[in-house]
Amino acid sequence: MTKFPDFIPSKLPKIGTSIFAIMSQLANEHKAINLSQGFPDFDCSVKLKSLVNHYMEKGYNQYAPMPGVLPLRESIAEKTQYCHSAIYNPDTEITVTAGATEALYSAISAFVREGDEVIVFEPAYDSYVPAILLNGGTPIYGRLSGADFKINWDETQKMVNQHTRMIIINSPHNPTGSVLTAEDMKRLEKITKNTNIIILSDEVYEHIIFDKIEHQSVCRYPRLAERSLVVSSFGKTFHTTGWKMGYVLAPENLTVEFRKSHQFVVFAVNTPIQYAVADFLKDKDNYIHLPDFYQQKRNYFNNALKSSRFKITPSSGTYFQLLDYSRISDEKEEDFAIRLTKEFKIASVPVSVFYHKKVENKILRFCFAKGEDTMNKAAEILCKI
Ligand code: PMP
Repeated sequence: MTKFPDFIPSKLPKIGTSIFAIMSQLANEHKAINLSQGFPDFDCSVKLKSLVNHYMEKGYNQYAPMPGVLPLRESIAEKTQYCHSAIYNPDTEITVTAGATEALYSAISAFVREGDEVIVFEPAYDSYVPAILLNGGTPIYGRLSGADFKINWDETQKMVNQHTRMIIINSPHNPTGSVLTAEDMKRLEKITKNTNIIILSDEVYEHIIFDKIEHQSVCRYPRLAERSLVVSSFGKTFHTTGWKMGYVLAPENLTVEFRKSHQFVVFAVNTPIQYAVADFLKDKDNYIHLPDFYQQKRNYFNNALKSSRFKITPSSGTYFQLLDYSRISDEKEEDFAIRLTKEFKIASVPVSVFYHKKVENKILRFCFAKGEDTMNKAAEILCKI
């Protein structure tokens, strides 16, 4: 095809091919074990698949209502009340989205205007900043600090001014596996008190949290809930990342604005899957065992690495484990990750890519949402490095 005949002023000039695509391609080329990608290598529930099939066969194959099918919004409301004692009205405060990615984009585009500032903590999940930039906002970068990647609230307080429109938080946190505590929530409450700041709380790993830690959803804190959009994803909770199904909880006046954006980004989400998830979600057994399920995987992976030279601080949530290679090499994270893929046949993600200006901590992110066979093979390689 002949190329577009003029200069294209990119709206995202600094954004190239994502490191995830690069590492996966490299993993394929070099036949490496791929622990770079954040998704399970095992299948979802047979029951859930048969429910989807059932609803397709019954003819639920046309557009769903814009906010999502009512039975699913009702199941989400029940689950939220059960998990957090928070009450959201299915009609006016819950919206089903095409995964968390759409939820995040629609939320940012609904509230962030030209010149607004949005506080983002790095290392940060990669979809936040492009969404802010595409909507004319300015990302203001906070830094998670220390071995446990904590938010420095004193620094954050200094970043807040009359232009601050939104603060984005993420717990359990991708890529670090850190979690926000009740104390963090109290600090956030103080910082946002008497402001018009909206909190966008990315809680996609809400059910993947370990060591009996309770997930501190913003919806547990009424003073935070009133200014928050809570984002979650069934992709993480039901091992169905390919289905792109998520939801947003927010008070009515925030939901009204959120839906204005959502209806023109995607309008509505996959109908039969919504009905299937509505039924599946009713049985608490389908999600309450997730912390144990993934904790067992985290422990299995970490135990298998005991004799390796990597330093391990066990992840507190998500299905990611960071490994510190400072005892092994001085190389930059990206160089080291590429070398591990090519030479040792194991792919990971350098944490430096989750910063707008690369920060080198000698840390790589590995996904442990894998079967034991894959984890054994990966650990065997990592122990030889
Ligand atoms: N937020 C975080 C922190 C994530 O890790 C992911 C998935 N990688 C998403 C949002 C996007 O979720 P979804 O696949 O439901 O769009």
